[in-house]
Amino acid sequence: MGKSCKDCLNRGKCCERFWLKYMKGRHVGRGKDRAWVLEWLRERKLPFYPRNRRYGVWCFGCLWLARDRRCEYYGKRPAVCKDVKVGSMPYCKFAARTRKG
Ligand code: SF4
Ligand code: SF4
Repeated sequence: MGKSCKDCLNRGKCCERFWLKYMKGRHVGRGKDRAWVLEWLRERKLPFYPRNRRYGVWCFGCLWLARDRRCEYYGKRPAVCKDVKVGSMPYCKFAARTRKG
């Protein structure tokens, strides 16, 4: 979550369902099975899990997303989460409209 997430009326949506890319924008696990993806996540100690795959691309969820829609271990969140900018994901459009209004 970014620094203005407190304004978000869709809190945690970005952690509920997302896609991961690495090196040259390739999707993680594209064309790979669930076991491969789980191992990739385990090696990197990421708290994510593969939800489902569409057109060969995996969608992920996060085990640290708490019931109150906050990150349970915010201070220890992975670098990839720290890099997310508010408004950079499709779900953030709602938050952006909220801030303008
Ligand atoms: S959707 Fe955007 S504004 Fe809302 S919590 Fe996630 S990153 Fe923050
Ligand atoms: S580690 Fe925290 S910030 Fe990152 S996806 Fe999970 S709940 Fe969201």
